Amino acid sequence: MSGFNTRAVHAGQEPDQLTGAVIPPIHLSSTYAQDGVGNLRAGYEYSRSGNPTRDNLQESLAALEGGHRAFSFASGLAAEDVLIRTVVRPGDHIVLGNDAYGGTYRLINGVFGEWNIGHTATDLGDLDGARKVIQAQLPKIVWVETPSNPLLKIVDIAGLADIAHEVGAILVVDNTFATPALQQPLSLGADVVIHSTTKYIGGHSDVVGGALIVKDNTWADRIAYLHNAAGAVSGPFDAYLTSRGIKTLGIRMKQHSENAQKIAEELLSHPAIEEVYYPGLPSHPGHSIATTQMSRFGGMLSVRVKGGQKAALDFVANTKLFTLAESLGGVESLIEYPYSMTHASVAGTVLEVPDNLVRLSVGIEDVEDLLEDLVTALKALG
Ligand code: PLP
Repeated sequence: MSGFNTRAVHAGQEPDQLTGAVIPPIHLSSTYAQDGVGNLRAGYEYSRSGNPTRDNLQESLAALEGGHRAFSFASGLAAEDVLIRTVVRPGDHIVLGNDAYGGTYRLINGVFGEWNIGHTATDLGDLDGARKVIQAQLPKIVWVETPSNPLLKIVDIAGLADIAHEVGAILVVDNTFATPALQQPLSLGADVVIHSTTKYIGGHSDVVGGALIVKDNTWADRIAYLHNAAGAVSGPFDAYLTSRGIKTLGIRMKQHSENAQKIAEELLSHPAIEEVYYPGLPSHPGHSIATTQMSRFGGMLSVRVKGGQKAALDFVANTKLFTLAESLGGVESLIEYPYSMTHASVAGTVLEVPDNLVRLSVGIEDVEDLLEDLVTALKALG
């Protein structure tokens, strides 16, 4: 198999057969002419069921994650919804990390809870503790984010895969933060990778999307069935934009990681900062595992600000280059307050985040400018 950046540029992106167009055209048609009933020209009949632009993206995603097959959705949560409905039935159980993305928790707790799907949120970073919970609950799915959102916790994917498989569960890894450029969960034993492609995969904050990538054929046909039957597929423009972003994923992740590492190191000794969460710091509790399963440490970091909620709110209001906004993974730097923004849906649950936490999505701008912006905003806290 060719190298990552070569796959990112070429997989699913062959020049157009008909015209030679180097960039495959966007296929907008919702339907396809048939040469007689059921006599399809290239296997396409209706764009919910299949669309060449979406197929190109899916081929690319499967190649990047080293998967058997990929499915592209209208959002990350749409992908999660289809995966859960494919694998679990009423009465089944899901074990997930106790710092999963708030929307994932809301889906599992608030939506699937009503369909009698149980769940346990636990610290999956502690493998002995995780084994006890998994052996007691006998889940169908073990669901992990590593690094996690927003606390950047690291979980040993290979170790957790073994524990999940011992009880016949599948291991699902949300690889949104790391991306396949930095971490390849399927090669470490995961069964399914999910992405909010809205984030680094798209990379430019201009498209919402999600993806599932499966290791083998065990669930592929059933996911394909629900993908079409429930219909939350990505549209052709979205698929095109996502494919466009993928071509620079490798070099973007390198720059995001270098910038975030520098900022994490600087903030570590800043007097206004209480704690820095970044897996690239040797002081991070997951650093040594991160070193074995990630090639770099990504562009996300969180900090706890001295002075509590007020200081955190002032900090996010003070930055200029870092835009106050939800989401992450674009080329531009963003700052947000998880407690009442991205993670508001988990307030009052076991997943509630500290009220002095600030999350940074470090972009690919010049790191000196980013640092100056952060230091100036922190100075204004007094
Ligand atoms: N997983 C992670 C780690 C996320 O951060 C998000 C969104 O922020 C999602 C999944 C959900 O994806 P989407 O917003 O594309 O539905």
